[in-house]
Amino acid sequence: MHEMAVTMSLLDLVLKEATRAGASRVVAVNVVLGEMTGIVDHCVQTNFELMSRNTPAEGAVLSFRNVPKQARCRKCAHVFQPTGICWTCPKCQSAELEIIAGNELYVESIEVE
Ligand SMILES: [Zn+2]
Repeated sequence: MHEMAVTMSLLDLVLKEATRAGASRVVAVNVVLGEMTGIVDHCVQTNFELMSRNTPAEGAVLSFRNVPKQARCRKCAHVFQPTGICWTCPKCQSAELEIIAGNELYVESIEVE
């Protein structure tokens, strides 16, 4: 399960940051999550609750900032939000696209006590 591995590295990072900050408890974790990652935020939340038991991150609230996917045409530099399976530029119909947003997956900030 993809979310499991993601949550594991997320928790790992959070705990490291908390230790570095000398915190005894993690209150909140702000995660940036791109649409392209295909990760379901409430699955991560559930996994996090299970995995963080008996760690300083137990009970921390995860909030997700979802980033919609965005593509840029390599030919005419038009930026748009692709839909469906076949992605082409709505301006020049080119299929030479570059994904510029939507692959994000990182911890933006954590709040500790
Ligand atoms: Zn174009």
